[in-house]
Amino acid sequence: MSNIVDELLAAKMLNEVQSVRKLQGKPPKMLSINADGAYSIGLHLDHGRLRGNVLDFEGKLRARAERTVDRPNPQTGLPLLAEITEKLIASANVSRQLVCGVGVVMPGPFATHSTLAHGPTVLPGWQGIDVETVLSEKFALPVYLENDATAAALGESYFGVAREFSDVCCIFIGTGLGGGILINGQPFRGRYGNSGEIGHVPIYPSGRACYCGGRGCAEQYLSVFSAFAQHFTQETDRSAERLDAIVASGDPRIKAWLDEAAAALRLLIATLENILDTEAIILSGLVNKQVLRALFKTMDRPIVTVAHRNDGASRLLLGTAGPDVVALGAAVYPFYNLFGSTDLAPHSAARGTSNVKTL
Ligand SMILES: [Zn+2]
Repeated sequence: MSNIVDELLAAKMLNEVQSVRKLQGKPPKMLSINADGAYSIGLHLDHGRLRGNVLDFEGKLRARAERTVDRPNPQTGLPLLAEITEKLIASANVSRQLVCGVGVVMPGPFATHSTLAHGPTVLPGWQGIDVETVLSEKFALPVYLENDATAAALGESYFGVAREFSDVCCIFIGTGLGGGILINGQPFRGRYGNSGEIGHVPIYPSGRACYCGGRGCAEQYLSVFSAFAQHFTQETDRSAERLDAIVASGDPRIKAWLDEAAAALRLLIATLENILDTEAIILSGLVNKQVLRALFKTMDRPIVTVAHRNDGASRLLLGTAGPDVVALGAAVYPFYNLFGSTDLAPHSAARGTSNVKTL
């Protein structure tokens, strides 16, 4: 352990504050994190938006950026990811040498490690591309590909409602549907990064056919993709923002969608709680808070599971980290990989928005 500490001190990632006197032996070192000892970049590319940010080693946001995109393929998406990364480094005014990596989030599922799978919820043209290798060569930085739900769980854990919890699952309503699982505060990824692929958990055995080959998958009832495929079929704009607007408009078709989606959510929550024995299930997504709240409101009483508490503690929570939650979680990821342990991962004790520059 002292070797690691000495290395971190030499790398200026830790500061020695003072030594405490001891009656016998060598005095122990008092250490603090050097916020400027390392930086990390998080990028979240989705069907309609690219969001990015820079975090310092204390977890403070140092710069953020956002672009509108239109279902980017590799030809349009890769240059855009490179451009926003350079602008974020420049805007945060940090040394590139101190950037320990870039966490990149794209809609999964992933077929094998860092190679995106097929399906209507993934971005077009990326199938078969080794995103981590291509981008790490382009950026000349380590790149870590993650799915949106796991990044959202990390984002909520460091910047939102999950700060107090170590065993949580984040249900993420994106174009598809995903689940991000943290166990003992650590992301549980599975062999190919597909753990928590709850979108394809069959909840209705004789239900709708799914593109995965199964039937009655949760994503067919609870996702932005299924909302437009089943309920708002005339819409040409099939973005999360458009679904937000439809729900806000009081459109009479909303009730049928909410009833169906909330019923699916209720079954999924019971499944997740019984498998994972979570402290809390967090609802998050590309859709806004009003839509998430409407889903909770529409849902019948939660099914009694192992997570039922007599103390009335809430086991279902809305995410609070905001629309950047996935990009923030993506930026935490390189720090995890730097140490391979949460013990030394940056803590967001000094979270804040000072020194933030928006491009
Ligand atoms: Zn499926």
